[in-house]
Amino acid sequence: MEIGRVVKVSGPLVVAENMQDARIYDVVSVSEKNLIGEIIEMRGDMASIQVYEETSMLGPGEPVTSRGEPLSVELGPGLVEAMFDGIQRPLDKIRDEVGDFIERGVSVHALDRSRKWTFNPTMKAGDAVVGGDIIGTVQENEVVEHRILVPPRMSGTLKSITAGEYTVDQTVAVLQTDKGEEPLMLMQKWPVRVQRPSKAKLSPERPMITGLRTVDTFFPVAKGGTACVPGPFGSGKTVVQHQLAKYSDVDLVVYVGCGERGNEMTDVLNEFPELKDPRTGQSLMKRTVLIANTSNMPVAAREASIYTGITIAEYFRDMGYSVALMADSSSRWAEALREMSGRLEEMPGEEGYPAYLGSRLAEFYERAGHVQTLGSDERTGTLTAIGAVSPPGGDLSEPVTQATLRIVKVFWGLDANLAYARHFPAINWLNSYSLYADTVTSWIQANVKEDHGDLRLRALTLLQEEANLIEIVRLVGYDALSERDQLKLELAKSMREDYLQQDSFNDLDSYASLNKQNKMLNAVLHFGDAAGRALDEGVYLKKVLALPVRDAIARAKLTPETELDRIDAINGEVDKAIDELIKQEVRVHA
Ligand code: ADP
Ligand code: MG
Repeated sequence: MEIGRVVKVSGPLVVAENMQDARIYDVVSVSEKNLIGEIIEMRGDMASIQVYEETSMLGPGEPVTSRGEPLSVELGPGLVEAMFDGIQRPLDKIRDEVGDFIERGVSVHALDRSRKWTFNPTMKAGDAVVGGDIIGTVQENEVVEHRILVPPRMSGTLKSITAGEYTVDQTVAVLQTDKGEEPLMLMQKWPVRVQRPSKAKLSPERPMITGLRTVDTFFPVAKGGTACVPGPFGSGKTVVQHQLAKYSDVDLVVYVGCGERGNEMTDVLNEFPELKDPRTGQSLMKRTVLIANTSNMPVAAREASIYTGITIAEYFRDMGYSVALMADSSSRWAEALREMSGRLEEMPGEEGYPAYLGSRLAEFYERAGHVQTLGSDERTGTLTAIGAVSPPGGDLSEPVTQATLRIVKVFWGLDANLAYARHFPAINWLNSYSLYADTVTSWIQANVKEDHGDLRLRALTLLQEEANLIEIVRLVGYDALSERDQLKLELAKSMREDYLQQDSFNDLDSYASLNKQNKMLNAVLHFGDAAGRALDEGVYLKKVLALPVRDAIARAKLTPETELDRIDAINGEVDKAIDELIKQEVRVHA
């Protein structure tokens, strides 16, 4: 094969000539240092290469060779609890080898080649298999059973399959195919820019329960769905993404830290092992895969990182699991795309982003879904994708936010004013939406409490009415409102402070089960009903609002999950206190 030569270096973009044997999307080695890059454009024998490492020392004439394969990830035991960079190099291994800063040309396997795993076959020699079938399992840790899959597009008869201790690249089974024998290993490879196939796409129907009251009750996401969290700097995007990564009721989480500050990933690494999954009681790290391409790492690898992440997520989906992928932030990914496009001298679209920004974003989010997986059994898996968006200055009309909104089904709009007022999560209840709300609410009604949809609607209506009343107050003043309307304002305030506000850093508050959400919502609204009854009987609003039982409503969020009866009991106390007020009122007038 001919050896290419560098003709031009422009930041992360390297142009090489004499590359006629290479193909677009091939991985290449650049210079004697073996920097890793990927061909993103071919013109004649000239290849434009995005290089995933520092290129400052490169110059014309240095050799470029194609590895003859597209950018791929290694999929197998050892993914869980690992932390990789944007092109799946394990960060701890790199650190051991070259220290804290990633030097150039470090070549390490994504999956450890020395570690042995116990393989338990679930099939036997003579069994016919197709792509996606599970031939056995590896218990990767206390939480994750790694299912070993026949790679897509392969089929045949198992010639042999043997239990035992294996490294990821040893043969555990031999498949007799039409074209001869194929060894099957614990590991398979997949090109990151290609969606892993499934048998059929189904519509998302179950909620991904997050423990965040604003999300689950008002703007829920379904398993297999897509959502975005746009918000200005400091509005809480990362905290929301962390919250979802911690507490979502999924089997696996892939967290992609994309172009944001490095210390946020360090927070994850320090915090997650300490935190317990409310479902399994195990450390949350035991179901998490981290991809970190932070702001101090090469920009091109940031472009690759979300594909690396979503391919790993699809692989676990294919095992029949529910997987959630968080990308923080998709804006930094888009900026990397813009930078490469600029250096390629492509025709710029809006604000310098390439014209294909929207289609690339769509391709990414389309890889989410609730699917019937490959394989001869009836297996389904879900991949939920949630992207943070960082619009400059919080301006939602900018291209990345707009393109994202055309694709995703849930919008959690973070609001700078709410964050400033320390109302967290700062999800604006007036402009956020979820296209899964009906599906998820029906599910909650069937599985948690029948009245949930009703309570939800009343709460949303109340918050909407508050917005209108605030307008009126601005014009004519608070005192011009009827006591009924004043009560509404008080009730909306309680809804915001006692229900919507949720402290991610308080152990008792950070996660609320659907049951707790339902009971809390009921407590806030029940007080409104009882207070209305008192007003009807002529009790002054001031007296109603001064009732000490309101403290119990405010503190309901701190009720432990094991003592939820205490929230139910509040309604009885409210009724008693209100009845007492009414009795006094009647006595005065008697
Ligand atoms: P962004 O990623 O949008 O820049 P962060 O997620 O880093 O913002 O949030 C900024 C700060 O706001 C956090 O460090 C924290 O102090 C506060 N904050 C955000 N969300 C919450 C929350 N749900 N509960 C409590 N504090 C929060
Ligand atoms: Mg952030």
